[in-house]
Parts: sequence; C-alpha cells; structure tokens
Amino acid sequence: MIQFDHVTFRYENADEPALCDVSLRIEEGSFVAIVGHNGSGKSTLAKHINGLLLPSSGTVTVCGLQTNLEENILPIRQQVGMAFQNPDNQLVTTIVEEDVAFGPENLGIEPNEIRSRVDEALASVGMTNYAEKAVHHLSGGQKQRIAIAGILALKPRILVLDEATAMLDPSGRKELIDTVKSLHKTGMTVLMVTQYMEETTECDRIVVMNHGKVVCDDTPKAVFSEVELLAESNLVPPETVKVRNALRELGYSIPDSVLNAEQLAEAVCPLL
Ligand code: ADP
Ligand code: MG
Repeated sequence: MIQFDHVTFRYENADEPALCDVSLRIEEGSFVAIVGHNGSGKSTLAKHINGLLLPSSGTVTVCGLQTNLEENILPIRQQVGMAFQNPDNQLVTTIVEEDVAFGPENLGIEPNEIRSRVDEALASVGMTNYAEKAVHHLSGGQKQRIAIAGILALKPRILVLDEATAMLDPSGRKELIDTVKSLHKTGMTVLMVTQYMEETTECDRIVVMNHGKVVCDDTPKAVFSEVELLAESNLVPPETVKVRNALRELGYSIPDSVLNAEQLAEAVCPLL
C-alpha cells in the first residue's frame, strides 16, 4: 500500500538530511506506529505519504502511484487522509455534521450521498449523537474524532495520524486510540506517528526512527525487548514493559508477549 525505497530528504538550507535512506513497506490493512524522539523525522516521513514533500532521492509509492509524478498527487491525496496534532486547526465550521460534510461538499458530491457519508463517518467515530452539536462545546478528544470523521467522509484507504493524540488528556487519548483501532478492524490501513509508547502495544508493527533513519521495524513484542536500542533512541518503553522488565530482573519469569496492563495483570496474579 505504501512503499518507501531509499528515500533521502533534505530541507532547504539544512545541513543534515531529515530522512536518510529510508526504505519501508506498509501492507494494506496493517496498523503501523512510527515512533522516535523530537526531530527524528517522523513528520517529514508522514508528509511524504501524500506528496506534501517529495524525496530528494529515492521514491515513495502509494497505492501503486509514485509521488514524484505530478499527475499522481491528486489521486494519491484521495486515498490518504491525514490527521494532525491540533484539532482546532482541522475543524472549519461551527456545527459537527456540517464540518464532516465540508470535504465531500467541496468535491461536489451529491447531497444524498453526502448525507449517508456523514452519517456513516460519525457512526465510525462513535459521534452520531453529536451530529447537530456545536463544535466548540466538544472536548479535545471529541474534536479529533470529528476531524477524523471529516477525513472518513472522503473515503480514503489510508489514515495517517501525526501525533493526533499529543494535545489530548488521557481520556481523550484513549477515545481516539479506540476509534483508530476500530477503523483498523474495518480494514483501514493506519499509520500512526506518536510519542506515547503505550499507544503502540497493539499495532502490527512499530517503526523506530532516529536521526532520520529507520533503526528498527518489527512487532511490538520484538521492539520492546530491544531495551538498549530504545534507550539509544531516547525512547521510554510503556510503564507496563518497565514493570515487566523490573520483575524479570528480580528473577520472575514474564514472557515478551506481556505488553499492556491486562496482560501484565494476568502474568502477575499467578506469581502472587
Ligand atoms: P519529528 O516529527 O520526528 O519531530 P520532523 O520530521 O519534524 O521530526 O523533523 C526532522 C528534522 O527536520 C529536524 O531536524 C527538524 O528540525 C528538521 N525540519 C523539520 N521541518 C523543517 C523545515 N520546514 N525546514 C527545515 N528543517 C526542518
Ligand atoms: Mg512531528
């Protein structure tokens, strides 16, 4: 679905490339997290997926279309929905359902079709009951879900989230992650850039970036066992993994597959 082949990208006047020989393959229907410390190149990578940035060398192919051909940009952008950090920057109207309808309206889609797309998109993010509410009364998590509904109304095949949970409180973050997981279950290909390692335990894969390079690309189970690599990349594993590792150091046997709180509880109860 998404393929990076030896992509290097340098911002104008920058000494170091922001992406350095990045090769990556993302299969249709997968749920992939991109993690890395500030400035490691995550947003630069995300912006290559819909052709907002073009490689200085190498190629990016999305749904079989290369981003470096101008005629491919529009068809690629129709397949890739992007959600960003600040929900307020992504909402354009005052009423929830009008906001979700804004994209399809601009594409000149006929009103009946817009109605059904808006209803479906609001249902997908669990916001049906808020259709007629004022956007400014919503919480941050609800606003992000509306922003995502607006993307879904355009019927993309790929959803890219660039730190979409960063400005949310813990409950808003959980709401959004649950929404993203349910979208993934319906077959959406999801690429999620995040600083919160806790959010990545249920992804198919975690791609770790450091200084513009992919330094690790594997399952959560494998990535969280790379204690040194995570430390070198300035990443802190989820609390549950820290507890797991601390218990191991005390001599308790807890398997690599223990990543989230439920799994940890299940592993610890028999020890008690
Ligand atoms: P991340 O999203 O992981 O924090 P970015 O992709 O935003 O990282 O940035 C990667 C590198 O590129 C950083 O060194 C950053 O300072 C640099 N960079 C980002 N945007 C620009 C820009 N518009 N112009 C010049 N340098 C930039
Ligand atoms: Mg970023």
